[in-house]
Amino acid sequence: MPKAKNVYFFGNGKAEGDAAMRDLLGGKGANLAEMTNLGIPVPPGFTISTDVCAAFYENGRKYPAGLDKEVMASLERLEKTIGKKLGDPDDPLLVSIRSGAPVSMPGMMDTILNLGMNDRSVRGLAAKTKNPRFAWDAYRRFIQMYGDVVMEVPHDKFEEALSAMKKARGVHEDTDLKAGDLEKLVDEYKRIVKASAKRDFPQKPLEQMWGAVDAVFGSWMNERAIKYRQLNEIKNIKGTAVNVQAMVFGNFGDDSGTGVCFSRDPSTGKNEFYGEYLMNAQGEDVVAGIRTPEKISTLAKRNKAIYDQLVGIKNRLEKHFRDMQDMEFTVQQGKLFLLQTRNGKRTGAAAVKCAVDMVNEKLITKEMAIKRVSPALLDQILHPMIDAGAQKAARALAKGLNASPGAACGKIVFTAHEAEAWHERGEKVLLVRKETSPEDIGGMAVAEGILTSTGGMTSHAAVVARGMGTPCIAGAKDVIIQGKTMSIGSKSFREGDWITIDGSLGEIYEGKLPLVPPEISRDMSTFLKWCDDICAESKRGDIKGFQVWTNADQPVDAKRAFQFGAQGVGLCRTEHMFFDKEKLIHFQAMIVADTPAERKEALKKILPLQQKDFFGIFKEMEGKPVVIRLLDPPLHEFVPHTPEDTQELAEHLKVPAAALQSKIDRLHEQNPMLGHRGCRLAVTYPEIYDMQVEAIALAAVDCIKQNIPVRPEIMIPIVITARELNLLRPSAEAVLKRVFDSAGVKVPVKIGTMIEVPRAAIRAGHIAQYADFFSFGTNDLTQMTFAFSRDDVGSFLPSYLEKNVLDTDPFKSVDEEGVGFLIDIAVRQGRAFNPDLKIGICGEHGGDPATINFCYRAGLSYVSCSPFRVPLARLAAAQAVLNNQKAKPAPVKKAKGAGAADKKAAAKKAPAKKAPAKKAAVKKPAAKKPVVKKAAAKKAADKKAAKKAPAKKPAAKKAAVKKPAVKKAAKKAKAKKAGK
Ligand code: PEP
Ligand code: MG
Repeated sequence: MPKAKNVYFFGNGKAEGDAAMRDLLGGKGANLAEMTNLGIPVPPGFTISTDVCAAFYENGRKYPAGLDKEVMASLERLEKTIGKKLGDPDDPLLVSIRSGAPVSMPGMMDTILNLGMNDRSVRGLAAKTKNPRFAWDAYRRFIQMYGDVVMEVPHDKFEEALSAMKKARGVHEDTDLKAGDLEKLVDEYKRIVKASAKRDFPQKPLEQMWGAVDAVFGSWMNERAIKYRQLNEIKNIKGTAVNVQAMVFGNFGDDSGTGVCFSRDPSTGKNEFYGEYLMNAQGEDVVAGIRTPEKISTLAKRNKAIYDQLVGIKNRLEKHFRDMQDMEFTVQQGKLFLLQTRNGKRTGAAAVKCAVDMVNEKLITKEMAIKRVSPALLDQILHPMIDAGAQKAARALAKGLNASPGAACGKIVFTAHEAEAWHERGEKVLLVRKETSPEDIGGMAVAEGILTSTGGMTSHAAVVARGMGTPCIAGAKDVIIQGKTMSIGSKSFREGDWITIDGSLGEIYEGKLPLVPPEISRDMSTFLKWCDDICAESKRGDIKGFQVWTNADQPVDAKRAFQFGAQGVGLCRTEHMFFDKEKLIHFQAMIVADTPAERKEALKKILPLQQKDFFGIFKEMEGKPVVIRLLDPPLHEFVPHTPEDTQELAEHLKVPAAALQSKIDRLHEQNPMLGHRGCRLAVTYPEIYDMQVEAIALAAVDCIKQNIPVRPEIMIPIVITARELNLLRPSAEAVLKRVFDSAGVKVPVKIGTMIEVPRAAIRAGHIAQYADFFSFGTNDLTQMTFAFSRDDVGSFLPSYLEKNVLDTDPFKSVDEEGVGFLIDIAVRQGRAFNPDLKIGICGEHGGDPATINFCYRAGLSYVSCSPFRVPLARLAAAQAVLNNQKAKPAPVKKAKGAGAADKKAAAKKAPAKKAPAKKAAVKKPAAKKPVVKKAAAKKAADKKAAKKAPAKKPAAKKAAVKKPAVKKAAKKAKAKKAGK
C-alpha cells in the first residue's frame, strides 16, 4: 500500500493542495496553496498535514514513519525554488514555521520566524544584504522566539537583557540599537539560553527546524489553545498543520513594508478597502504597536504600483472565496508577497451588511448569506456594547455566565429596594445580588444591569433579565458579597461605586466604560425576511414551516417581540403580572384566605387587572397565537418576606400580623420547585385557574368587540398525568363557554400543556388526549432530568464543564442525549395520537442556536424565546432548515459513549423514525378535538388510550403495548387509571 502523503508543497505558481483541503492543510496552508494556484505572489513553502498532528499525539509524540524523508524532499524543493540553502553561511535561506488549524485560533499556537540563522549565516546575511544591523536583529529576534517557544527559556529574561542594553546605550526604542549593540545582545541571549536550558543554542539548521516543528505541533495542546477550543466549542478537529515557508522581509529599507488589510471594512461592512501598514518594518512591529501604522489608502501615494497590485489581488481573492478577505502582506524591496488570506472576522453589523450587499452584487446566494452570519453576531447588534477600544484597554476583574447579552454600567446597589430608590432620584444602578427572587422584580426592572454571584443560565436573574433585555451576568463565583460590600480578589467595592458588565461575554470591569448604542439597519430587516422565507417554505414530512415565537409577559414585551418579527407568543408567564404592586396585595389576600369564598372575593379584584394585561398582549400581537400559561410558581413566593411587608398586608386585611405570620409560615416548603406549584395549585384551589381563564375569555371578548383579531391559547404547567388535564380542562372549557355565551361570541381557544416533567414526556401519548398542543418547558425538564436545581447549579456546574464531565451547560443548550431523548419520545407519542399536534419549546433554550437546530430535527413547529433573542432565533431557525435540508423528523443524536442500556434504548427507538404516525398503536379519537365531555365518552377514550398507548416502549416498531394494569382493575376504576 502506498504511504499516505503528509507534506504538501506550494511554490512557483503550483501547489499540491488547494482551498478545499482545509481539514488536512489547515486554513492557512489550504489558502496559501489556493493563492499559489491562482498565481498570486506567495513565498514558497510546504505544509505538514493535520494528520501528522493527530498521529503525533496518538503515538506518544512520535511522527509517522517516512515523514522525515518527505519533509527533506520538500525542503530541497524549496531550496531549489528560492536558490538558497538553509544554513548556507554566505546566503542563507530563512524560513518561518507557523501553525494553522482548520478553524482559525488566532494567537493560540506558536510561530517561529527567521529560522536558519546561526553564528555563521548571520555574517553571510550581513554581507549579502550589506545591512549588518538587519542581520543581527534577525538573529536576535530568532534566538528570542526560539528560546522562548522551543527551549522554554523565560521570555522575561530576554526582555530584561534588551532593556538593559537600551538603558546602557541611553535609547528608548529597539530600532535605535546599532548593529554592534545587537551583536552583543546576541551573545547575551545565547548565554541566557545556556544558563536556563542547560544547553547551547542549536547551530544546526535542521535541528532548529525539527525543534520548531515539534514545538508548533506541541502547541496544539498548550493550555491556552485547549481553553480557546473549549470556549469556542471547537470540536472534532484532528489538530494543527505546520507551515514551513520562505521568509520575506519588510524591514529591508524604505522600499519594504508590511501590513494587514481587509477587502471590506470589518466593522461597518462597507465595501471599502480597509487596512494598515508600516514601511520598513516586520509583522511583529505592527502588532507590538511600537510605531503607529498608516492607513492603507496612503499607500496609493507612496507606491502606486504596489497599491494597485494589492487592490487587484484583494478583488480577485474576494471574488474567488466569495467572502470578505483578511490578508497579510509584505513588500520586500519593491516586490509584493501575500502571506495569508482568510475570511475576515467582522462585527455583527458588518456581517449583515456584507451578506446583504454580496447577495445584491450576485456574489453569493441568499442561502449562503444566511449560513454565513453567526447568530451570536446578530445578537450583538441589538444591545449596547462596550466601546471596542476601551474594552481592549481595560482588564476584566472576573468572569461569570453570560446570562443576558449587552453591556451596562451603573452604580452598585445591593438590594432591589435600593435600586428603585436610587433610580427614582435619577441614578443609573447596577443591581448586585447573591441571587435574585421574584420580589426583586421592581429593582431588576430599573437596573441598567444585573450581576449575581450564584445561579445558572436559567436562574431567576438570568431568565428575567433576558426577558427584559437587561444585560446580566449570573453565577460569578469570584464575586463575594458581604452586606454592602462586594469584593473581587483584592479589590473591594461599596454601594455607589461604578462598575461595568458585559453580559455577552460575562465579564466584569471596574469603573464606567463607554458604551456604544445598538443599531438596527434596513439591511437587517431584509436579511431576516430572507430567513423567515426559508423557514416558511421548509417541510419535514407532514410538518410545514418552522416559526419563531416569543416569551412575553406584558404588552410592552409583546410589542417589542412583534417588531422583532415574532410570529406568536409561546409563553406568557402570568405570575410575572402578579408582581405588579397593585395586584400583589390582592393576590396575597387570596393566598392567605381562609375560605373559598374569601379566596374568590380576592381573585375578583385581580381579574380585571389580568384581563387588561391579556387584552394588551392580544392587541400587540394582531391576531397571532398567544399562549397564556396559567399560574405556575408556589404560592409562598408571593407572600411577604419581611416583617414590614407582613405588617402592611395585615393592615390591608385587617387581621393581626402575628396570625398572618403563622399562615405564611404554614406555606413554607422545603423544596418548592418540587412542591405545591403548577397545575397542582389548581387541583387544590380550582378558583385560581378559573379566574385566569375568565380574564383571558373576557379579554378576547373585548378584542372581538373592537374588531381586533385574537387567538388565545391556554397552557397548563407542571402536568405529570393525563388525569390532571382531564380534571382541569373541562373546568376551563366551562368558564370559556360561560363567558363567550353570555357575550354572544365564538372564539376558538386551544388548551394545551407544558411538557416539563420527565414523567409527562414519557406519558405524552396519554396526555395528548386532552391537549391541543404541547410546549416543552426545558428549564424544568432539564432541572428534573438532571436533578440539578436551576438556581443552584452555579456552585458546581463550572467544575463539570472544566473537567469535561459535561460538554455544555445543559441550561443553555438542550442536552440532546438525555433531555432531547425525552423530547423525542414525547413528540413521537404525541403525534402518534394526534398527527396535527402543534409542538413548540418555551424554555430558555428556545433562543439557543444549537437547541433551535435540535428542535427543527425533532419536528417541533416553533421555538419561543425572549423578545431580544427573536432576531437571532429567526436566523438560527433558517440555518437549521438549511443545514438539515434532507433531515427526516426527529433524528436525535445517538448517545455518545452510551452504555449497553443506553444503546439498547437508542436501538429500540430507531425504527420509529420511519412513520411515527402510521405505525403507532394509539388511534385518534373520532372527534377532532380530543375533549371528552360526557362521562361515557371519557371512559371509552380512556379505555382506548389505556389499551393502545405505547406504555413501555414509547416508539418501538409496533408501539409494543404493554397493557397497563387497568385491564385487571375493577371496571369502575378504569377512568382513573387512564392517565397513570
Ligand atoms: C420551563 O420550565 O422551561 C418554563 C418555560 O417554565 P418556567 O421557566 O417558568 O418554569
Ligand atoms: Mg417550568
